[in-house]
Amino acid sequence: MKNRVLTGDRVTGKLHLGHYAGSLKNRVALQEEHECFVMLADVQALTTHFERSELISCSLKEMALDYLAAGIDPNKTSIFIQSMVPEIAELTMFFSMLVTVNTLRHNPTVKAESKGAGLDELYYGFLGYPVSQAADIAFCKATLIPVGEDQLPHLELARKVVRRFNELYKPVLVEPQALISEVPRLVGTDGEAKMSKSLGNAIELDCSAEELALKLRKAKTDPARIHKNDPGHPDICPIYAYHGAFRPEGAVEIRENCEAGTIGCSACKEKLRLALEGLLAPMRERRVDYAARPRDIDDILQAGTAEVRRIAAVTMGEVREAMGLDYF
Ligand code: ATP
Ligand code: MG
Repeated sequence: MKNRVLTGDRVTGKLHLGHYAGSLKNRVALQEEHECFVMLADVQALTTHFERSELISCSLKEMALDYLAAGIDPNKTSIFIQSMVPEIAELTMFFSMLVTVNTLRHNPTVKAESKGAGLDELYYGFLGYPVSQAADIAFCKATLIPVGEDQLPHLELARKVVRRFNELYKPVLVEPQALISEVPRLVGTDGEAKMSKSLGNAIELDCSAEELALKLRKAKTDPARIHKNDPGHPDICPIYAYHGAFRPEGAVEIRENCEAGTIGCSACKEKLRLALEGLLAPMRERRVDYAARPRDIDDILQAGTAEVRRIAAVTMGEVREAMGLDYF
């Protein structure tokens, strides 16, 4: 069956290897068979970055370039801008009547992120962003959502809201399914938290060969391994996690040699660097190619957004009719 696939990324900076492994790789594969939509989530970015909106406007086209460089094909996938689809805001408002504040407060991803967001208090927009995300998915009746593990509580909420709406009014909306990748949570170069734009522990998809080498050199490894021949503990080492994600065919050998102390961290990092160069070098080339045609990027974003608005208008007509709000 042909699915409608929707995903998005907060417009808070460049995309990184975590996005690629957790979601982007799946999106590129799915666009061959399915109808695909990728959303630049600028409104959701405002929930934590409302005082730094210039970061959002500066990042938007860089992220569009990241998508295109990673292999998103604008002829197969509609790339659109969240704030330019007002129907999403309208549906968010209707959905917000169906979700309790307690449900949002207990959402584990909201809890974890509110600690990391550096905001002094819990803001209404931030607390409610999973509701807005449910509307992002429901307005286009997406069926399949390729996401990282952190998004599962939000997907569950989206399913519940859609079910509640359909039961209360009319079954016009569709319950989405999450698609979790083989790498649901890529750890950052600090070896502690999820690789994230906001935590300074990311390897960006557009980094140069030199930047990649430097980031890998600085990346944490097993802290107990002082000498090259000390036996290592791959399960606590981010470099080993990256071997698993980006060089799975060689990961068993790395584990054995690391545990036996027969490969040093520098040699292990070098093998990974070569594999990542193989992934990133073609992306850099595509990026340069697209970056030379900024008008084309604008056209791609405008066409994608226009396409999505056509779909949104149809869904909102059905939603209003279902709720009895179609007065004339
Ligand atoms: P921010 O720090 O601004 O929240 P982020 O790096 O967490 O940024 P998002 O835009 O929140 O990125 O996430 C976009 C998508 O990428 C989501 O589906 C998320 O699950 C996935 N993703 C992001 N980081 C990772 C990661 N380290 N591992 C796996 N998936 C990830
Ligand atoms: Mg995030």
